[in-house]
Amino acid sequence: MARIHILGFPRIGAQRELKTAQESFWRGELSEAALRQVGVQLRQRHWQAQKVAGLNAVAAGDFAWYDQMLSTSALLGCLPSRFGFDAKALSLGQYFELARGNTAQPAMEMTKWFDTNYHYLVPELDAQTTFDGGVDWLFDDIDEALSQGLPVKPVLIGPITYLWLAKSHVAGFDRLSLLPKIVAAYQRILARLADRGIAWVQIDEPALCLDLDAHWRAAFAPAYADLAGTGVKLLLATYFDTAADHAVLAAQLPVQGFHIDLVRAPQQLDAWRQVLPKDAVLSVGVVDGRNIWRTDLRRVLALLQPLHAELGDRLWVAPSCSLLHTPVSLASEQKLDAEIKSWLAFATEKLHELTVLGRALNEGEAAVAAELAASDAAQASRRQSGRVVNALVQKRLAAVTTSMAHRASPFTQRIEKQRQTLQLPPLPTTTIGSFPQTAAIRQTRAAHKRGELSALDYLQRIRSEIELAVRKQEDLGLDVLVHGEAERNDMVEYFGEQLWGYAFTENGWVQSYGSRCVKPPIIYGDVFRPEPMTVETTRYAQSLTDRLMKGMLTGPVTMLQWSFVRDDQPRETTALQLALAIRDEVSDLEKAGIKVIQIDEPAIREGLPLRQRDWAAYLEWAVRAFKISAASVKDETQIHTHMCYAEFNDILPSIAAMDADVITIETSRSAMELLDGFGAFDYPNEIGPGVYDIHSPRVPGVEAMLKLLERACEVIPPQRLWVNPDCGLKTRGWIETEAALSNMVKAAKALRLKIGEQGDDAWLRLAPRTGAAINPALSNHVHSAGCNDCGQAA
Ligand code: GLN
Ligand code: ZN
Repeated sequence: MARIHILGFPRIGAQRELKTAQESFWRGELSEAALRQVGVQLRQRHWQAQKVAGLNAVAAGDFAWYDQMLSTSALLGCLPSRFGFDAKALSLGQYFELARGNTAQPAMEMTKWFDTNYHYLVPELDAQTTFDGGVDWLFDDIDEALSQGLPVKPVLIGPITYLWLAKSHVAGFDRLSLLPKIVAAYQRILARLADRGIAWVQIDEPALCLDLDAHWRAAFAPAYADLAGTGVKLLLATYFDTAADHAVLAAQLPVQGFHIDLVRAPQQLDAWRQVLPKDAVLSVGVVDGRNIWRTDLRRVLALLQPLHAELGDRLWVAPSCSLLHTPVSLASEQKLDAEIKSWLAFATEKLHELTVLGRALNEGEAAVAAELAASDAAQASRRQSGRVVNALVQKRLAAVTTSMAHRASPFTQRIEKQRQTLQLPPLPTTTIGSFPQTAAIRQTRAAHKRGELSALDYLQRIRSEIELAVRKQEDLGLDVLVHGEAERNDMVEYFGEQLWGYAFTENGWVQSYGSRCVKPPIIYGDVFRPEPMTVETTRYAQSLTDRLMKGMLTGPVTMLQWSFVRDDQPRETTALQLALAIRDEVSDLEKAGIKVIQIDEPAIREGLPLRQRDWAAYLEWAVRAFKISAASVKDETQIHTHMCYAEFNDILPSIAAMDADVITIETSRSAMELLDGFGAFDYPNEIGPGVYDIHSPRVPGVEAMLKLLERACEVIPPQRLWVNPDCGLKTRGWIETEAALSNMVKAAKALRLKIGEQGDDAWLRLAPRTGAAINPALSNHVHSAGCNDCGQAA
């Protein structure tokens, strides 16, 4: 008998019940007891769904009040000592303080969970860290499930992945030095699970899908030797990429089973088959836990049948990873087009797919003939649908040439022409695009969406917001203006709604961090731009001023990265289609007289594959997509791009290869560390390192920004330097925005003056120092609770 199971279920609730409850608790409107009750209900509902689907055990321990890594820290008892909390007596209020900060302490750092859009709280470790045990919430959840008479498979983050994902503020600290202590804690946890009669525990070690050096590889054998013999069987779970590189090592560990991700890395199956110990379980992830498409059950069954013949009841069937990364249920999608809806499976529907696969294996295909036929029909409909394939797009794709990715002249020639045309002062000032999204703006958009505001009234209100933003920028004395993005709810949705091939859900929420969820749009078909998207707005904004108005677009890689993407063609092809759509928009903006166009690519870094060997291929098509979107314009037209949310030093050559005339980039949080990288690499084009952090309401002083600019001049020639904040200003209020920008403009003017006083050759004397070391930091963007915009966080 093949078994079916899942690695985890979304915890947020089909209607984001957890978010609502968390946020009312934070506002003091809900008691801890009432919040806990919401948790009970959600867990019960999710276990019930797993039971109805006939799963052989329900997953428990996948619930977390904020984040699974933070909950693991609370379970192990290794909370950052700076908070002074007693882990064994931690209240929910204190747990949230760790995640969100309190008056005395900043929040724990948050960063992306592997290559997903989910963020975890980074454990803070040092030599004094102890793992003496913390709260019993995990055991409570398990008892709760057991009391309902359910077979339970607890889910834990494994000790090595936990340490890998942790950080230490002590330079050079070896996190693995804590291994014996942390393993002892896991021993105690497993023993307590065994006491409850638990048979199997899933222990997640996705670190096995990363590039691990010998030191980290060597940690597995002693750790798992100590975890054997606690009385429970261990299923070692890997996901998000191939673990085949470490299969030989893993197969020697004293665990009883392995889970592998065959959606992301189907090629790893053979490697595992060869090394699988003769009595070990192989759990195969065949239902996509990262995407929303219905599984082609017939195709998957063809893969499973020989495996089943070979392994019998040692074959387990599962989604590729936890279903955390998919929305809860299709049931509440009323407005989604029926045909498109028939191609989709959210978490609940994926449970049903497992049921069908399990029955097909155990009872024979005939037992589920109707379900298989329905699956075939859905696949056929998707393959043949006129909504998916667009002949026009196919024709354009076939006609793409290499030259379409190249500007007419190299940067050194373009910039001369741009300087002639644009007539900007040295150290030009600009902003990243959005201005404060006031309550009035949000209400205007919402009323328009509900149909309560006529098109004309809406247009008028948006235009008056644009005018307001333009006048304020003129008064501030900024050099390159923006229209302020009042008409945009979100930088992907706004464009997706105007493109063919995109669908939007009502409730397709996925947890991003804590109570924040995103609702990624779905790219289901060939992407095509039927008509201009931003031209009228930008033209209007330009008509209000004699200064330069920058056109604002979202780039193809970010559009791709923050959407659910097609699985019936390579990501690269979808990116190319998006690039062609943006390219058309760029051309139309240029025709409308717009001389500066910014194509935002904040998500380019986060698209990097987990394994370094796959980086080059990704970067090649990602850079090409960006270039195709940008390169149609004449030399005089200046292309900007903007990046944030990450450290970029490890992909600088690719950023340079994008060949934008100007890049504005988030740097202020890393105190311009990034600039060392740009300086050492000798970044060839113009650059605007953010001189102030827009994530904080604090108004930076003129002196502070001047200092940063002077530091920037040490590594970037001042002739190529721009002055701007580090991201869009949509989350800020006007008062602080105007104060900060006024100071920023003053800082730019002060530096111009300073340089001017030193004589004409001062630009040259401020030439960059060379030889600065490239910062090797690979870490992702650190999100704080005030993070601006990752998809449509809400
Ligand atoms: N142009 C966008 C804005 O200013 C860029 C947002 C982003 O980088 N995340 O809001
Ligand atoms: Zn940004």
